[in-house]
Amino acid sequence: MAKSTAKKQKKNKDENGSTRIKIGDNNRNTAVIVGDNNQLIQKNVEEKPLQVPPNDENEGLLISFGRWLMRSFFHGDMKHTLTPFTIVVGIIAAITGSLSFGPLILDPTYFVKNAYLELGLTLGFALSAFGGIGVVETSKRTTCPKCGQKFMYTRKERLKTGEGTHQGMEVTNYRSTYSCDHCGFTKKNVKEISHRPIPETYEDDEEE
Ligand SMILES: [Zn+2]
Repeated sequence: MAKSTAKKQKKNKDENGSTRIKIGDNNRNTAVIVGDNNQLIQKNVEEKPLQVPPNDENEGLLISFGRWLMRSFFHGDMKHTLTPFTIVVGIIAAITGSLSFGPLILDPTYFVKNAYLELGLTLGFALSAFGGIGVVETSKRTTCPKCGQKFMYTRKERLKTGEGTHQGMEVTNYRSTYSCDHCGFTKKNVKEISHRPIPETYEDDEEE
């Protein structure tokens, strides 16, 4: 009986006679009450990394499209150069772009008369121009360092390790795991930084 009481006291009180109380979720914060001074020292332990979706908004879509492109047009040769694709997309963008924006400059009423045609051409231009850039950029980023296949080396896991503001930008730090879907080459703990301008809307606006 006496032995167990002594043990219990030893657990709660250290050599200075201070008492430690675990507070908050997961007992991450420790409040130390030292002797008779009752001084409260709160130690903030670094936040636990947060698991977030591995892909940004369009990344998954661009990777799927890229793989389809390689299978359909380059006989599944995942190392094939994208130059022919870039040329074709460039031509489509040039044609749709000149057709959609050209007549507007010459005749401002053209848009009203041919709204659907105009819309179609503008969409065609936007898709070919921005989609084309997106696919080419994605192919560069997803080329496996080991086997060299495109659209294969992708992010599988992403941990948010930090967040803050720096020089007017919202900065987020990540630690990611990449691996190749073809040869299995894996790279862990890849440090990544994403930054974007701080949005000008304030949280108060949402409450209106
Ligand atoms: Zn590989």
